[in-house]
Amino acid sequence: MNVSEHSSIARVAEQLKSEWGEERVLREEPMSRHTTFQAGGPAAVFAEPATEEALAAGIAMCRREEVPCFVLGRGSNLLVGDLGYPGVIFHIGEDFAGMSVEGERIEAGAGVLLSALARFARLHGLSGLEFAGGIPGTLGGALFMNAGAYGGEMKDVVTEVRVLLPDGTFRWLPAGELDLAYRSSRLQKEGMIALAARMTLKPGDPEVIQETMNDLAQKRRSKQPLEHPSAGSTFKRPEGYFAGKLIQDAGLAGYRVGGACVSPKHCGFVVNDQGGTAADILAVCRDVQAKVQEQFGVTLEMEIRCLGDFT
Ligand SMILES: Cc1cc2nc3c(=O)[nH]c(=O)nc-3n(C[C@H](O)[C@H](O)[C@H](O)COP(=O)(O)OP(=O)(O)OC[C@H]3O[C@@H](n4cnc5c(N)ncnc54)[C@H](O)[C@@H]3O)c2cc1C
Repeated sequence: MNVSEHSSIARVAEQLKSEWGEERVLREEPMSRHTTFQAGGPAAVFAEPATEEALAAGIAMCRREEVPCFVLGRGSNLLVGDLGYPGVIFHIGEDFAGMSVEGERIEAGAGVLLSALARFARLHGLSGLEFAGGIPGTLGGALFMNAGAYGGEMKDVVTEVRVLLPDGTFRWLPAGELDLAYRSSRLQKEGMIALAARMTLKPGDPEVIQETMNDLAQKRRSKQPLEHPSAGSTFKRPEGYFAGKLIQDAGLAGYRVGGACVSPKHCGFVVNDQGGTAADILAVCRDVQAKVQEQFGVTLEMEIRCLGDFT
């Protein structure tokens, strides 16, 4: 980082602190504290906006100062490099975690955890979010990724999404305009930030909903290495294949670099089981991609997002 980049980051940090309060703006915050991989170096600035207007103003400030910025949810689909991120990370957390229900419609903020959202729906006798109960991210991250599991995905339930557009304006967009598809969305392509969403569900018996959620949680526990830090499925499902099966067939179960390895329990997961670095995790991913390409001619695309400086 050169001197002028350094001073613009310092200026942004000082201005955010004076407007939002010291406690909402951290300097050199280790991202290992904010990602489920539990790896990654510091964010130059880690900021907690309290409102959508504050978030928009913070992003505009970064643009003016030419400082890079990034929006973080729970960090459950993210690998941050060991050298950290030389910009501002805006965390969409508890200040964006409101939920309300009207009939069969739920409105929730982007900072709500999917587990809390699924519980809220069950409590109100609404079915359709059972699939989301075991996904450890926020609603915002789930909209960005069109998260899904066990035959359900966000696309099935979301009707409208409130977004902050790159031009700094707020809009409620119909879900149909968001191009939600397998782990992809217009939010990814156009730099939109999800602030809230409306979902339409179906009436259901809370006990039956709970049973379904218990069954899915049991399936997850038995098949997935939940006992180790990870970011879930590391790779997207390639057309016509399963990533985990290809990796297993390539003989890579347990393949290790430093403190990270391919989980022998589920080869679709790279786990940070021995306190590895982000470089270890990325090296396992790259080696797996190369070996699967070499042996089967199939390209494994990363599902997890990488951010910041790795070397
Ligand atoms: C044990 C485990 C199991 C998992 N199982 C599943 C599963 O079954 N299905 C599945 O789909 N995923 C699964 N995941 C991955 C992950 O939980 C999901 O992708 C989740 O939706 C990510 O949400 P997040 O808040 O953690 O996003 P983050 O990791 O914080 O961010 C991911 C991306 O979303 C962007 N983003 C975050 N919030 C917003 C926002 N408000 N507006 C715009 N962009 C935003 C970020 O900039 C980043 O690019 C699993 C992860 C783990 C660790």
